Amino acid sequence: MSRAAESESVTRAAQNRGIILKSRREIELMRNAGRVVHGVLSRMRELAGPGVTTIELNAVAEELIAEAGGVALFKGVENPQARFPFPAALCTSVNEELVHGIPSDRVLREGDVVSIDCGVRLKGYCGDSATTIAIGTVSKRVGRLLDVTNGALDLAISLVRPGRMWSEVAKEMQAFVEREGMAVVRDFVGHGIGREMHEEPKVPNYWDRAQRRLDFELVPNMVLAVEPMVNLGTHDVSYSGEGRWAVVTGDGQCAAHFEHTVAVTSNGVDVLTDGN
Ligand code: MG
Ligand code: MG
Repeated sequence: MSRAAESESVTRAAQNRGIILKSRREIELMRNAGRVVHGVLSRMRELAGPGVTTIELNAVAEELIAEAGGVALFKGVENPQARFPFPAALCTSVNEELVHGIPSDRVLREGDVVSIDCGVRLKGYCGDSATTIAIGTVSKRVGRLLDVTNGALDLAISLVRPGRMWSEVAKEMQAFVEREGMAVVRDFVGHGIGREMHEEPKVPNYWDRAQRRLDFELVPNMVLAVEPMVNLGTHDVSYSGEGRWAVVTGDGQCAAHFEHTVAVTSNGVDVLTDGN
């Protein structure tokens, strides 16, 4: 097959999987949404400290998103196991909470970690990113958890290039985390993103035989939200807290979550939520 025919055939294969490839213009619109998300998360890093509540953080995030003319993507999202639609702009997940924590009057204390996940739609296109912030000084092991989870995201981004199968990236992320004696969460994965926050494909952070039918080839103009979720102990999780929204670790140990929205380019990767 010629190079052109080959690239046409991988593009078709992606489209057959329901994956919506983006135009250059659409990727720029997603970058604009990503800049708003990046601005929110940067402000959260400045504000999150001992004595601050997660509802205060959410209020600032809502203001910043509204000022930018954006729409908070998480507000109103429904989830089959939850008792009501998600009520806030941010997911704020503290310590053993992995994702989907509802901002509340919980006061952050020295030694806590809080994962802050933010999604924004601007001019019809979405950006999604998350970071986990240490409150004051955290234990050595929890500090390592944050470094390893962020490191897994950096590793994945460094491996994204056209022609590579996602399974190769997922296996590397999993090996990187497991070498540290930590566990990659199975029940939640990254996702395609575009006009909608959740599009095809599913983007797991681990790999096993059961995942084989989900594998896909990275193709230019594919946009993915890559989001490793790592637990210090077991990879098992369950639901708890207000409205059964928060996902918590099965053994009560700490979890961390980092995420970027990234576009596959003709020769590598373009991170859309790093503020550039
Ligand atoms: Mg997110
Ligand atoms: Mg996401």
